[in-house]
Amino acid sequence: MIRLTFLGTGTSTGIPLIGCNCATCQSTDAKDKRLRASALVETDTETLLIDAGPDFRQQLLRQPVTHIDGILITHDHYDHVGGLDDVRPLGNVHLYAEDYVLKSIHRTMPYCFAEKPYPGVPRIELHPISTEPLKIGTTFVQPLRAMHARLPILGYRIGGLAYLTDVKTLPDETIEALQELDTLVINALRHEPHIAHITLEEAILLAEKTGARQTFFTHFSHDIGKHEIVSLILPENMHLAYDGLQVIID
Ligand SMILES: [Zn+2]
Ligand SMILES: [Zn+2]
Ligand SMILES: [Zn+2]
Repeated sequence: MIRLTFLGTGTSTGIPLIGCNCATCQSTDAKDKRLRASALVETDTETLLIDAGPDFRQQLLRQPVTHIDGILITHDHYDHVGGLDDVRPLGNVHLYAEDYVLKSIHRTMPYCFAEKPYPGVPRIELHPISTEPLKIGTTFVQPLRAMHARLPILGYRIGGLAYLTDVKTLPDETIEALQELDTLVINALRHEPHIAHITLEEAILLAEKTGARQTFFTHFSHDIGKHEIVSLILPENMHLAYDGLQVIID
């Protein structure tokens, strides 16, 4: 069994946007308040986190965890790694990402990797990964190649769950790796096309292509509209995720 918790379902700005008066940003529905995208994946034996954006601290206060076996990073954009300094209270943390992402973390947080680091700095152990499967504890993780415009990024499949965000296109081998899926999580920025993200309408087509039993969309801009209204237009087995939503995958 896997328990997936959406810690954040917003794009890089979060919702509401600073200073915005649109109906979505002004909504009083808690489901329209979206922190930056991140998810907690708990298997029977391991607790894994996918991405650690700038809302990390607030997210882990809302959804308390005392131990994380591994942090899987999709790519090095700040909305996915900007909260890494806040892993401090979690002790020694194992972080898995592609080499270019590890280099970028090393560059932006050099104080963590100094020969004699200050006491109290985050203790992050960097593990380079590729699209080869890996094992964290007893949990198998299959990284999945995705393209974020021209940037190669990773999604992850863990058992019957696949989590992909910031996707613009998927190579055929990833579509193949998404067959026989129970739960697909995929980004859906808004309705208007964007150079680096698929739209909600494109995400629906992609989800249909995988044949996943159920799909949850994430990483929304405020242009997506209000949760309650957009939910009405979705196919029966597809849903907008919202912060705090938990899904059980058998
Ligand atoms: Zn707005
Ligand atoms: Zn991105
Ligand atoms: Zn993003």
